[in-house]
Amino acid sequence: MYDVLIIGCGVTGAAAAYSLARYDLKVGIVERFNDVACGATKANSAIMHAGYDPHPGTKMASLNRLGIKAAKKICKKLDVEYRPLQSLVLAFSEKDMEAVRELYARGKKNSADVRILDRKGVLAAEPAASPDCVGALHSRDSAIINPWEFALAMAEVAVINGADLLLEHKVTGIRRGRGKLTVVTDRGELETRFVVNAAGAFAEDISAMAGDTSVKSLPRAGQYYVLDKEEGKKVNSVIFRCPDENGFKGVLVAPTVHGNLLVGPDAEPRADADDLSTDRESLDRIMKSGLSSVPSVNFRNIIREYTGVRPTTSEKDFVIGVSRSCRRMINLAGICSPGLSSAPAIGDEAVRLLGKQGLVLKRRRGFIDERPPVVRLAELDDEEKRRVIEENPLYGNIICRCETVSEGEIVDALRRPIVPRSIDAIKRRCRAGMGRCQGGFCSPRVHEIISRELGVPMEDVMLDKQGSFIITGRTGAEEN
Ligand SMILES: Cc1cc2nc3c(=O)[nH]c(=O)nc-3n(C[C@H](O)[C@H](O)[C@H](O)COP(=O)(O)OP(=O)(O)OC[C@H]3O[C@@H](n4cnc5c(N)ncnc54)[C@H](O)[C@@H]3O)c2cc1C
Repeated sequence: MYDVLIIGCGVTGAAAAYSLARYDLKVGIVERFNDVACGATKANSAIMHAGYDPHPGTKMASLNRLGIKAAKKICKKLDVEYRPLQSLVLAFSEKDMEAVRELYARGKKNSADVRILDRKGVLAAEPAASPDCVGALHSRDSAIINPWEFALAMAEVAVINGADLLLEHKVTGIRRGRGKLTVVTDRGELETRFVVNAAGAFAEDISAMAGDTSVKSLPRAGQYYVLDKEEGKKVNSVIFRCPDENGFKGVLVAPTVHGNLLVGPDAEPRADADDLSTDRESLDRIMKSGLSSVPSVNFRNIIREYTGVRPTTSEKDFVIGVSRSCRRMINLAGICSPGLSSAPAIGDEAVRLLGKQGLVLKRRRGFIDERPPVVRLAELDDEEKRRVIEENPLYGNIICRCETVSEGEIVDALRRPIVPRSIDAIKRRCRAGMGRCQGGFCSPRVHEIISRELGVPMEDVMLDKQGSFIITGRTGAEEN
């Protein structure tokens, strides 16, 4: 019997697991996919928001500010890529300036670092910004992060401290019993004293399984362009536009921690939160909007497009609290933006709520708040490269030429506490296949290394999620 079973291993579930790892508890995490962080956590803008956007007094406002402070420390401690970066909300009209003043006032109330710049100030802070702007809100409290690694790092620490991560387990039902809950999955039943519902855009379904239908999901999709590193060099800020009349923060232009450039997202209702398709019309609009903020972006350098789906609900705030129908369930629903920025504080809030519901929180003796180090060859200087290659010659065998990823790094990833099972899982961990050729050269080699290291037939290695087969057998095998 588990003390706590967390449903969903995006950044919210991972943060809850990380917060719970400090206590002497038996924790399980059930995730329907074959890897962590494959929902909204994988496909977002990767911004640690400064906290000027949420309305003062909301959960979003307080958890955003607490979250970014905690995230900075966690990233340092667990070696997650994180880069402080100024942000600007560009104004192009007097009406936009009104919005900037509103954001400034909210920022001040939320204790965020904010100031208002005129056009000259904007162009001094960010020479790539459009000269058509009339001013901007400026903050030095924002940062960019590797969101996927952030979630993985917290989940790894949870696993190192004894949590069970049950991948490829889809929750299909919940039964309430005396002093316990039975969580039904497509791989069997699990008993637990408490459940944390961190199922992202599917939190409504999980909530309903325990009898509470008050949470209403209204997923909204956002599409993006990823551009080559040539473009990433052009900006030194996260560049937003003023929110529109629906509160939509607008298309941003921002570098990623790996030096690429992101342009997006829009915000369109999407009936099926698993539908990650992109479409020409939306992407054209995004391109136009991006160019009006930063005219020098060269869209000939696009290397990828993607869609992320926000776990939005009918509420204007995060839906965090004890389920109305089941005191043994904590809902962490509606975790849309700034959910990534708020995640560590949401995890701590889940623990506080569980404690209030009667979970005994006794500190774990010997809590391990670290994970195995990660070698990132591309980030090392020549001397460090020579040293690691001498220790392990596999670091000298480059598999992904675009991103300079070695065989040693891929083998390391396959030996970590959470084992990657697919080519894209390796891509997320090591960046093999993230570059200009998008895996055209390295994918077959990564495929072979996974098969060899995990001792599984090539046919059983997926491209990404379960069922994404790459090969079905050897050509001409039936004749032999
Ligand atoms: C376009 C976009 C841009 C964003 N930009 C930012 C940003 O810049 N900064 C910021 O702070 N936030 C941003 N966000 C918000 C942020 O990405 C989310 O708040 C965060 O990722 C939510 O994490 P989660 O773990 O709650 O959900 P998810 O990451 O979706 O994880 C939920 C998990 O639950 C699993 N699951 C669902 N149903 C079941 C089931 N039945 N059984 C088992 N497992 C299940 C899913 O497979 C998934 O892995 C953005 C979001 C989007 C989509």
